[in-house]
Amino acid sequence: MIEGFETLAIHAGQEADPRTGAVVPPIYAVSTYKQDGVGGLRSGYEYSRSANPTRTALEECLAAIEGGTRGLAFASGLAAEDTLMRTVCKPGDHVIIPGDAYGGTYRLFAKVLSRWGLQYDPVPLGDLQAVRAAVRPETRAIWVETPTNPLLGIADIEALAEIAHAAEALLVVDNTFASPYLQQPLALGADVVVHSTTKYVGGHSDVVGGALVTRDQTLGDELAYHQNSMGAVAGPFDAWLTLRGIKTLGVRMDRHCDNAEKVVNLLLSHPKVIEVLYPGLSEHPGHEVAAKQMRRFGGMVSFRVAGGEEAAVEVCNRAKLFTLGESLGGVESLIEHPGRMTHASAAGSPLEVPADLVRLSVGIETVGDLLEDLTQALA
Ligand SMILES: *Cc1c(COP(=O)(O)O)cnc(C)c1O
Repeated sequence: MIEGFETLAIHAGQEADPRTGAVVPPIYAVSTYKQDGVGGLRSGYEYSRSANPTRTALEECLAAIEGGTRGLAFASGLAAEDTLMRTVCKPGDHVIIPGDAYGGTYRLFAKVLSRWGLQYDPVPLGDLQAVRAAVRPETRAIWVETPTNPLLGIADIEALAEIAHAAEALLVVDNTFASPYLQQPLALGADVVVHSTTKYVGGHSDVVGGALVTRDQTLGDELAYHQNSMGAVAGPFDAWLTLRGIKTLGVRMDRHCDNAEKVVNLLLSHPKVIEVLYPGLSEHPGHEVAAKQMRRFGGMVSFRVAGGEEAAVEVCNRAKLFTLGESLGGVESLIEHPGRMTHASAAGSPLEVPADLVRLSVGIETVGDLLEDLTQALA
């Protein structure tokens, strides 16, 4: 059995095309499939909302690289999240979400799922006592992000899985920031892994997509039923782009980590930086847990700038090679001011972030060029 991560990323779900021998699955830009007589499906495909061969290739690959049995590809990360919640929960149920959840996830719970009757509580997941105290009889899931965005907090997946399972709830892990190369939540006890494949999994800032991966076959079947019933599927071109990105996920992540470590060293020694947030640092409160559950510490780095909000905004505006922009996880380096950009809507809420915070998505450019750009932006 071949099971290495990179081997699975390049080959799982992607046998050479039986008709032509093409080594890459074609983009099946098709909605419907010819049937051999009424009720006689040629290949299991009948309509591309239900299944499409390019999407199937991606879904099988996603399942393989997360160590799951079933992968499902969606039109976006939030489409995957919405489908998941409406599959495993019903109105009246309760979900524990991270105290510093991704803003779009928070909005989905606060503005959309709450109207459907789903209850939720934001809880700091680093505090296991607080999580236990928040569990109710109606708690159906604990939703975990680790590392978190943009403060790079760490949650203990194994410990949270135990709490969830003792309450007969599911443990859901949004693995977007780590990627399956750095962290394998299903092996740590999670029931469902969520991805915004828009980020590291796709990796080239050229496609928006989402994914769900499960270990349990029955749960996988239920999610597939809802994926088809709700219809927020990935299109074939998006699936193809994402699959293309996955092939290099391992080498990209190693370079993201190499470059992030060097950026962290620069920031640590810079007089204008008052704090560096990176789980690879031994003084980071989540460092030990991160070292236990992650292969390396990822490509996201946040830091606080001396001089407050204006100084932080200035650093973002002066950066040149680090492109000012939202999103993350692509080959190109990005810089942003969470307080005024990605997390502006969290102002005044429990998810508000420090005004002097700058977030970096460290890309895989030549690291010397990245360090030079940050040095001039901080000058
Ligand atoms: C971007 C992101 C999402 C949402 O994904 P979309 O593809 O933008 O819908 C969810 N979780 C995290 C951690 C993200 O970074």
